[in-house]
Amino acid sequence: MKTVVFGSCNIDLVYSVDHIVTPGETIAAGSVERHPGGKGLNQAIALSRAGSETYFCGCIGYDGKFLTDLLDVNGADVTLVKQTDKGTGQAFIQVAPNGENSIVIYHGANYDVDREYVESVLSHFHEGDLLVLQNEISSLRYIIDRAYSKKIRIALNPSPFDDNVKGIDLRKITYLILNEVEASYYCGSDDERDAAEYFKKEYPHLRVVLTLGKRGCVYIDKDNEIRSSAFSVEAVDTTAAGDTFTGYFLSQMTKGNDVRSSLKFANAASALAVSKEGAAPSIPYFSEVKKALPHLKEFSEDKEDSLLKKAEKYVEKAFPSPTLEGLAGELGYSESYMARLIKKLYGKPFSKVVIDKRVSVAAELLKTRLDMSVSDIIGHIGYNNENFFRKAFYAKYGMSPLEFRKKGTKDE
Ligand code: ADP
Repeated sequence: MKTVVFGSCNIDLVYSVDHIVTPGETIAAGSVERHPGGKGLNQAIALSRAGSETYFCGCIGYDGKFLTDLLDVNGADVTLVKQTDKGTGQAFIQVAPNGENSIVIYHGANYDVDREYVESVLSHFHEGDLLVLQNEISSLRYIIDRAYSKKIRIALNPSPFDDNVKGIDLRKITYLILNEVEASYYCGSDDERDAAEYFKKEYPHLRVVLTLGKRGCVYIDKDNEIRSSAFSVEAVDTTAAGDTFTGYFLSQMTKGNDVRSSLKFANAASALAVSKEGAAPSIPYFSEVKKALPHLKEFSEDKEDSLLKKAEKYVEKAFPSPTLEGLAGELGYSESYMARLIKKLYGKPFSKVVIDKRVSVAAELLKTRLDMSVSDIIGHIGYNNENFFRKAFYAKYGMSPLEFRKKGTKDE
């Protein structure tokens, strides 16, 4: 039985910037780093390091040889990779000191996958083989139709999620591996119980693994729901956590392990990936996972007051522009889970928490920094829309900022 990843290879260019560039602005980056990337490449490396006989197929450009060399060194067979005359796919990533990022993707050669190439790749694989797919190459639906008709089993990681991937007929898929946000696009809810119900009812043949970040994962098929906790590690960089999980879970399953132990092994592998910087370099080898597993402790949910403290610390640090994404990244949770948790902890959504913080910082400045005008203060706390600020201020203090300042100085 062969495992083939038909997917993307990217050159990731990571620029460290003071802030994310705004329209019309030109800024200089403090540094730039070049890394191998692409979900296809990461998952093929994870499968290979997990010990599966793995083929990687996809398109690179004239500048992509270092990527196939990396796959090759890791034990993946790259003889079916095609070189086209476009550049290799690229991701331009800006990273700001508060952890915020913004990404521009150039599909490049990843979108040169055409029907002819698909046919030539699939002619090497047969009934019972496993095809692993993500959503970063062209002709995805064609690949699925042709593989399905050849009775090749298909594992789909529908990431990044878009309408094209949503349109895929899941009846042709054997394994669907996705995170909570992606699941919510299918079932319209970010609650994992709704996702379980949805997939069981609509696609009873499907074997779904829903990954839940720090909360581990849950496997769902028509007869089973199996939960597995994540392992507690110091999260350094969660990039490629999902790709490591996918590679390790599928590798363990195809080696004949049961679902429960495959989930546990995949959680351990991704915990190790999370505790190291980088994408591909952070994916552990089978021997490392095996050695670490007996010593890893299952993650138990942080106490609510300690979470609240961590959230407050983040809001302080990232002020004036804290984001839910930044907070989730800092605490190691998914955004949708973080949003629910914030609502529970604060009794209001994150956007309201930020508004409250801004308004109270403004109140403090109105009293203590008489050299700053109201407009200066509004700019300082990160508001573009003055009216919006004035309304929020009035809602909290029952008076305008100027009245507040006058009252404050009178009281002293
Ligand atoms: P994605 O990166 O695709 O959004 P998740 O965030 O759900 O995927 O992570 C995939 C897996 O990685 C989880 O099921 C879990 O095993 C592991 N993981 C993610 N974040 C952490 C963390 N902070 N600590 C330990 N394990 C983690």
